[in-house]
Amino acid sequence: MAAFSHLCGRKDIIGLVEELKQRGFRTVLGGPQARQDYNGEPGIDSHPHRFRGLKSIVDVAFQGPVDGLKSEHLGMRSVLLEYPWTNNIFLEVDWSNIYTFSDTLKRLEVRLGQVLSAIGCPYAAKPQPVTLPPPIDLREKNVPELEVRSEGCIFCDVSRDKGYHGSVDRDRLMTQIIGLPEIDGRKIPFELIDEYPIGSLSKLLEETEKHAIKLSQINLVCRVDDINAHASDLAEILSLAQRQDVKIMFASIGFESFSNRLLRYFCKGITLADIVKCVETLRRLKDRFGSHFLYRRDEGANHGFIRPTPWDDSETLREIDRNIFLHRFFEDILPEHSTPLIIHHASYLGEWIREIESKTDITFSREGTWIEWWNPSSRSGEGNASEIPPAML
Ligand code: SF4
Repeated sequence: MAAFSHLCGRKDIIGLVEELKQRGFRTVLGGPQARQDYNGEPGIDSHPHRFRGLKSIVDVAFQGPVDGLKSEHLGMRSVLLEYPWTNNIFLEVDWSNIYTFSDTLKRLEVRLGQVLSAIGCPYAAKPQPVTLPPPIDLREKNVPELEVRSEGCIFCDVSRDKGYHGSVDRDRLMTQIIGLPEIDGRKIPFELIDEYPIGSLSKLLEETEKHAIKLSQINLVCRVDDINAHASDLAEILSLAQRQDVKIMFASIGFESFSNRLLRYFCKGITLADIVKCVETLRRLKDRFGSHFLYRRDEGANHGFIRPTPWDDSETLREIDRNIFLHRFFEDILPEHSTPLIIHHASYLGEWIREIESKTDITFSREGTWIEWWNPSSRSGEGNASEIPPAML
């Protein structure tokens, strides 16, 4: 049996599932978008180019937390099982039982862990309509502006898949931390999974100090609005961390763009002014807390910057470059490479693409579970097939 917890939209992994199935393995698919990736896109009959789903190569698709998966499920074929998310899911991890293999089985020495604090993302619970213009290449082709509904950031497939189901209670959070492996008498660095982690961080540090649990580093993947809302608390939190010799790292902050127009299309809920305020706070804290506070690219952080997008015109590109220069984002914030906008077929942007396809004779090609927004063609045969636009600096 081979079970997959995330396809990441990768065609090579889908190819591996297919190969294993052909060789007689029973195949199981769980993780984000298991339901949608199993079922495929709607409207296949009228739009045969759309993603048809993985029913032919997956025996059991499992949507939701693994708690609901029973051994008898694994003997089933051609089935989609669903189990609801709650904030009381199974959270025990045996970190000593993780192996990799090529020729031989090899135990993985885990150097970076994860601790789950929030189930899903609170921002994903925020419905918001947005009007999107057509992709820039289709401006001349009578493609209308369309109003799309999003919950959370419009490109986020996880927000649509999981939504938000509250926080894990304090005892269960501490149990996860206690269970982490140690190196040189300290817990390994871990990512605290919570898009709004700062409000509960001082309590977490107080508890680890009280129970004499020695941490090394907490990595945060969070939103700009959380940093701005707690700008005045961060100094106190970092003093606490410094006293325990714990590093706090803003490992990934979802800036995503330096253009207000694109931030609006992304439904990001922040503006350029919010980003500037956030970066000023980070720089101030760095001056004061030095090596106990990490947020820079050269310290290992990798912040979100989405480019290219379907809406990049020369004016927007100039605006973004001007802001990067003006606010010196290239010094510390800008990642090595941007990430092209990815449209998973089950995201809200996937709905936008299907709406364009329904209202015009334009179709977009599919690559595995992705929709290639950069690859439109009209049913009359006109097309401009191309590779994914390259990431940019
Ligand atoms: S991208 Fe991050 S902040 Fe936005 S909805 Fe997804 S998880 Fe939440």
